[in-house]
Amino acid sequence: MYFKKVSLMLTILFISASIFTIHNASASGGFEDISPKHEAYEEINNLVVNKTSFADVADGRELSGYVEQLSFFKSEKEPPVKGVAVLDTSQVIGLVSSTTDGLNIRKSKDSSSKANIVGTINKGGKLSVYAVEGDWLKVSYNDAFAYVYKTYAQFLDADGNALGNIQKQVTTTQSINSYVKPTSSSKVISTVNSKVKLPVYKTVNGYYLTVVKGVPGYIVADSTEDVKVEKPSIPNPTQTPPKVSGDLLGRVTVDNLNIRKEANSTSTVLCKLKKGEYVQVNSINGYWAQIIYNGQEGYVHKSYLKILNLSGNPLKDRIIIIDPGHGGKDPGTVVGTIAEKNIALKVSTLVTQKLEAAGAKVLMTRTGDTYPTREGRVDFTHANYGEIFVSIHVNYAANTSAQGTETFFAQTPGDMHQEDIDLATFVNNQIVKNVNMNDRKVKKGNFIVIANTNIPAILVELGFLSNSEDRAKLTNDQYIELFAESIYKGILEYYSKQ
Ligand SMILES: [Zn+2]
Repeated sequence: MYFKKVSLMLTILFISASIFTIHNASASGGFEDISPKHEAYEEINNLVVNKTSFADVADGRELSGYVEQLSFFKSEKEPPVKGVAVLDTSQVIGLVSSTTDGLNIRKSKDSSSKANIVGTINKGGKLSVYAVEGDWLKVSYNDAFAYVYKTYAQFLDADGNALGNIQKQVTTTQSINSYVKPTSSSKVISTVNSKVKLPVYKTVNGYYLTVVKGVPGYIVADSTEDVKVEKPSIPNPTQTPPKVSGDLLGRVTVDNLNIRKEANSTSTVLCKLKKGEYVQVNSINGYWAQIIYNGQEGYVHKSYLKILNLSGNPLKDRIIIIDPGHGGKDPGTVVGTIAEKNIALKVSTLVTQKLEAAGAKVLMTRTGDTYPTREGRVDFTHANYGEIFVSIHVNYAANTSAQGTETFFAQTPGDMHQEDIDLATFVNNQIVKNVNMNDRKVKKGNFIVIANTNIPAILVELGFLSNSEDRAKLTNDQYIELFAESIYKGILEYYSKQ
């Protein structure tokens, strides 16, 4: 094999030499230099040992002759020939775009030398892919096969767009094909077995855009079923889990809640609960409630149970997170010397005292003039096994006539909105009624602190510091007490509803 290659190289060199002789002889004819973009450039380049002399090669009739001469070892080198389709584009499996500038396109899958570099492509530049070979993508470049390093290329969909975010996950219900385009008449990229979980990026005319072994393709949507989302993502509590036992009932707040054999999210699923079903809760350890359902013992994640005390105070042992807005370096809304952070802390402290007096376990995200980040407040809630979250704020508007109380809840996929709405409504109505505030109602608002908790979470805007009437109440201790009493009553009302 080695010997054959050597003799071929000698032949090539010999031919090259004769071509150059011809060119040099006719160079006075004023031929233009061959462009590096010329489709034959790389072939010639490969044949010329001394590349500095290469610029002398001219385009035109002589080149055609050169290509003709080359064609006798075409089977070995496969040089591109103008007007002849060397590559079968029906075999393209996808399109990639470069994620970096100057990505090398190589003749072979070898990044150790520069000799095989046939071109480069800048960020956003696109290439058709014929195969994935290890770390390399086999692409077409100037009508010939070439390779780019996979890491720096990102696959696009059939329309040449980025895949975007995963919309959902599906499981194949039978063995199916992944196609280049959303039609079964297009090329099959690969076959996927039954019961394989795949991500869905887009839905196009009954096909799902997915990714199989790193390559995007389209699968028939009807040959899959949606993966039931396991809720919640288990947070990572850092505190010692509080143990609670007593006369407890749990009302399921989401559909398809798993009952597990053991208290962890990978344990065998014994059965699934529907939204609105009740289970007897024997005990709660951290996030896991040991329950009895149809006489069977099991565990469910307590974030998806509304825990109801069957005897005693409805608030007894409930773990409630109270979040005084802003703090420290962040005063929130300020009018004159009045800062939102101070009003929020005052009201929050009073709410906490009232809840604790009723037997609840209350944790405040801050108890002084400090600034926990919004993400820090979410983490705090998770770390403390919070069951509901109430953030307390004061509003501001450029229009000083804007006034009243409004309460926000976040709507996120898989969340139990009805619980959020219940809690928000009870709290909002109590404030409006007891403090005689303008009712700006319960609203959707995806604030970080309430959007990132799986538990019922609300954000209350007590009133407007920018409005003189509201401001008078927000700076009066008797009204502050009324605001706090109202929030407490709203929470009590929430837990009293079975
Ligand atoms: Zn605020």
